[in-house]
Amino acid sequence: MTGQREAPVLAVDIGGTKIMTAIVPADGRVLAKDVSPTLAGEGVPSVVDRLCRAAEKLVKSNNLKFTQLAGIGIACAGAINTGRGMVTVSPNLPGWVDIPLAQMVRERLKVDTFLVNDASAAALGEHRYGAGKGVKHLVLLTLGTGIGGGIIADGRLYLGASGAAGEIGHMTIDVNGPECPGGHTGCLEVLASGTAIVREAVRRLKNGEESSLTEMVGGKAGGITAETVEKAARNGDGLAREVLARAAYYLGVGLANVVNIFNPEMVILGGGMAGMDDLLIDPARRLVAERAFPVSAGAVKIATARLGNEAGVYGAAAFVREAGKGRKP
Ligand SMILES: [Zn+2]
Repeated sequence: MTGQREAPVLAVDIGGTKIMTAIVPADGRVLAKDVSPTLAGEGVPSVVDRLCRAAEKLVKSNNLKFTQLAGIGIACAGAINTGRGMVTVSPNLPGWVDIPLAQMVRERLKVDTFLVNDASAAALGEHRYGAGKGVKHLVLLTLGTGIGGGIIADGRLYLGASGAAGEIGHMTIDVNGPECPGGHTGCLEVLASGTAIVREAVRRLKNGEESSLTEMVGGKAGGITAETVEKAARNGDGLAREVLARAAYYLGVGLANVVNIFNPEMVILGGGMAGMDDLLIDPARRLVAERAFPVSAGAVKIATARLGNEAGVYGAAAFVREAGKGRKP
């Protein structure tokens, strides 16, 4: 019997710069995908229109009809009210406040549509199809310009009361720390993200400290990225090494908290910075071993994500098939 659950899902991942759309059949492999620019500055209707047109093109080019789909799953950056299908606010999508995105897409494409935070989707994707396959309890962190989080508890995506659980990047690490765009202070994200690394490097250079970074960016501090700092550190630059060690320290403190709270079998690190093994991840790992309770520290494996930038669409598809059941608005 082929029910709706075997039908393919149209999965979407909306980020600050790109929208990825993909057709994901029941076996979970991505059958076809398309990437288009978000152009968030053009406003909500324009982004939704671009998303829907990309979806229409993809469905048509795969000889499908929207009526044949099990549903549409959208992973979106920002604070998401999953139950209501709303983007409540999104730092990556300026002006997106209380946007009923699921409803807008459902009305246009006439298919059941579900919305989930992008890092929660990535956690679900890695759990079903990637590094966390077969693991019962895991926490995923995406380490990029920001820090996102997603939680799998007892094999299921944990979303909390309004679908907003897992904001690990906004865990307070230093109450007197720098301000975060969300209006808090000393969040993990403002201390250990790629943006935080750049900010700290620039701050120290502006204080007149010496570093090969200055030459690497032709004297323009604005040209410094987390990658430049990594490269300088690999070439033995003292300042770059200290900046990364500082970020690794805060990341380790955050991970130790996560490990104490959730006692996960696995913590999966994804995003652009997860590859900085020796400079960032290993020192953070050592800190977890030192700071977390031994029973939890001994149980956790800190692993690297496997699905790359497709984790969000894999997870959005799984969300439609699993968590979306019974949660239709
Ligand atoms: Zn914050």
